[in-house]
Amino acid sequence: MSQRYSIFSVLKAALGENKSWKPVWREPEPQPDYDVIIVGGGGHGLATAYYLSRYHDVGRIAVVEKGWLGSGNIGRNTTIVRSNYLLPGNIPFYEWSMKLWEGLEQELNYNAMVSQRGVLNLYHNDGQRDAYARRGNAMRLHGVDAELLDRDQVRKFVPLLDFDNARFPIQGGLIQRRGGTVRHDAVAWGYARAADARGVDLIQNCEVTGIRVEGGVVRGVETSRGFIGAKKIGLAAAGNSSRVAAMAGLRLPLESHVLQAFVSEGLKPLVDTVITFGAGHFYISQSDKGGLVFGGDIDRYNSYAQRGNLPTIEDVAECGIAMMPALGRLRVLRHWGGIMDMTMDGSPIIDKTPVDGLYLNAGWCYGGFKATPASGWCFAHTIARDEPHEASAAYRLDRFATGHLLDENGGGAQPNLH
Ligand SMILES: Cc1cc2nc3c(=O)[nH]c(=O)nc-3n(C[C@H](O)[C@H](O)[C@H](O)COP(=O)(O)OP(=O)(O)OC[C@H]3O[C@@H](n4cnc5c(N)ncnc54)[C@H](O)[C@@H]3O)c2cc1C
Repeated sequence: MSQRYSIFSVLKAALGENKSWKPVWREPEPQPDYDVIIVGGGGHGLATAYYLSRYHDVGRIAVVEKGWLGSGNIGRNTTIVRSNYLLPGNIPFYEWSMKLWEGLEQELNYNAMVSQRGVLNLYHNDGQRDAYARRGNAMRLHGVDAELLDRDQVRKFVPLLDFDNARFPIQGGLIQRRGGTVRHDAVAWGYARAADARGVDLIQNCEVTGIRVEGGVVRGVETSRGFIGAKKIGLAAAGNSSRVAAMAGLRLPLESHVLQAFVSEGLKPLVDTVITFGAGHFYISQSDKGGLVFGGDIDRYNSYAQRGNLPTIEDVAECGIAMMPALGRLRVLRHWGGIMDMTMDGSPIIDKTPVDGLYLNAGWCYGGFKATPASGWCFAHTIARDEPHEASAAYRLDRFATGHLLDENGGGAQPNLH
């Protein structure tokens, strides 16, 4: 059982020269079999395991991770959380996630640095203003906060933006004040610690190399550390979903693409909200350490490599400087890539699969970090009860065959548009 964090436990440990702290989770050996195995120790896999153990009557649970916990996209993203969606299939899900973020630190007894500093989407022309007004109205109809700001209100809120840009003048913005940022890797650590405390085995450095299926029913996973039996298996492998699902004979409607993130040198407070550029693909916030954290578009070629290329860096820099010219004075400290599991309608999949006992959580595109709590919550429900949760009911695997797409961006069937 892990130690509870509180002002008293910190003081007590400090008085003992901090020698009493124990490892935050165990390093168990894989058992011969489990009731449920989750493949992928990212945010979604860890959240699923935690909610399964906490709110469902499931016996022995393991998370099997090929690297270390949090080595995938959960520790690589730009940390933005929001629920500013348009479609009825999406808004309740992402708003449920927002509510779970709001109570997460108390739920997990872990400081995930949830910071509701607002998410501001800029608009630059009348058509875009109308689209944002419609989105804001849809959000408010679902009880989600949204405000449409005019140019002067945005100027007051973020004076450093370029309001005089002849090519992309800023006309205003849609703001969700409850949106913001959360420290990404603390989310993985918080869920991992809480799941471990409830008896979930977190098995690192254990790659799933095969899924054993007999007579249409899952039996377990072949791994780099041997076979592990399971009654149910939940796949939460994000950018590697297609490769893992193929082990059970499934071909998923996904493409894997690289997305890069960037961090500047540390600065004094400069950007105290999250801003997205409306005339290109660019988003930025400032971390508590002072670095500006920003990103843009995917690299636009299929890849499983966790690194990106120079043309995208140039494109991201151009968008950033067009929005906030002062960024031109900055040095980029580091950048990295993660693998996105892009669906053709930009919306995710949380569902059962045609293989009995095999469940799928995938297709998160650019936006799966903000979904982490609700994704874990709904996937745990689907695995435990063999039926979709009402908040994720639209995220069916068969919607690509039946045509019930959730095309949030209205971009059509092209992964690079989402
Ligand atoms: C640069 C970047 C910026 C982003 N910005 C945002 C943002 O601002 N807001 C937002 O909402 N979303 C953002 N995202 C998307 C978000 O990070 C992802 O959608 C989300 O993290 C995916 O779910 P996950 O955390 O479970 O994935 P991951 O952390 O990638 O977890 C999947 C895990 O599965 C493991 N795995 C894969 N194959 C196997 C195998 N065979 N056996 C065992 N384990 C395996 C991997 O090692 C990995 O740890 C961003 C992503 C990137 C890369």
